Amino acid sequence: MSILCRIDDKNIPLYRIMWVAATPHFCGEEDCIREGCYEVRLEHDETIWANPTEQGEVLKRLEAWQGGMGMSEDEDW
Ligand SMILES: [Zn+2]
Repeated sequence: MSILCRIDDKNIPLYRIMWVAATPHFCGEEDCIREGCYEVRLEHDETIWANPTEQGEVLKRLEAWQGGMGMSEDEDW
């Protein structure tokens, strides 16, 4: 499985993602171009914007990825 997720025409490594907004952006500004997009926060206070399709995709990918990274059950201490 690729560790990259495509958001806003960028290939973002999953490990750089700090969090993904659960609700779409709304700030009330008339000329806001991010309305309806989901904020994705990266390391170093970088923000990118995902459309609803990308947001669903990135959440799925993150869950699958975290699951794959889980502590191995047969680890022998
Ligand atoms: Zn806005």
